[in-house]
Amino acid sequence: MKKKLIVFDMDGTIYLGKNLLPGVLDTFKFLNDNKIDYVFFTNNSSHDLDFYFKKISDFGIKCSLEKNFYSSTEVTISYLKDHGIKNIYCIGNKSLKDKLTKHFNYIDRYDSSFNVEAVVCGFSTELVYDELKGACLYLQEKELPFIATNLDWRCPIEDGLYIPDCGGMCEWIYRCTGKKATVMGKPNPAVIDYLAKKFNVEKKDILVVGDRLYTDILVGVNANVDSLCVLSGESSLEDVKKYDHQPTYILDSIKDLPDLLKK
Ligand SMILES: [Mg+2]
Repeated sequence: MKKKLIVFDMDGTIYLGKNLLPGVLDTFKFLNDNKIDYVFFTNNSSHDLDFYFKKISDFGIKCSLEKNFYSSTEVTISYLKDHGIKNIYCIGNKSLKDKLTKHFNYIDRYDSSFNVEAVVCGFSTELVYDELKGACLYLQEKELPFIATNLDWRCPIEDGLYIPDCGGMCEWIYRCTGKKATVMGKPNPAVIDYLAKKFNVEKKDILVVGDRLYTDILVGVNANVDSLCVLSGESSLEDVKKYDHQPTYILDSIKDLPDLLKK
């Protein structure tokens, strides 16, 4: 299977919490030796990409911040710009807002004098009630695009526990306003289109790799590119078999990825 670009999920695929999964370094050595490009794409909009760059490079994986790291935030910015949106209302961590402020005017509390053109919701670990309230008020007042960076219900932390993620926040807004968010991260095929353009590769040359069915695998299905589900994270073989959309490949972990790419 010849591929030019591999789109990796991180948690559950490269590492689990603080621990690197076995065989990962050999896999990346193989990719580098064979000049196969790779990116780390996270749906998580609560951290800067520097956070992931540090984590991945500290594990000893060869990478550069500019070339190898992307998140749902970049896809969200690209979408908003393509739609000519300049003024937004935003729920999210300071790191998300800092990034958005380079491209848009934004507020994060209700202000009737501000001409909001879209409501953006990111995964916020700094969430306050007034942020949610403002989003709900704007979405009830007029028809606005409601954009979520990602739909993940929960985010894995250490010891097999989870914390609420962006999907849960959007559900809260939906229950109040009846408005469903348009999701920018995986499984939106816009993620793959964005990366294909960035790396100037065709979709047939891309492989998406991850452990979560309804984001990592579904983005591959939606974008019509090959996908690999690894069983090193949250999905078991039984989960995969039960799922409506099947990955192209299943492996215990990315340790075995070089063998797959050699075939
Ligand atoms: Mg994962």
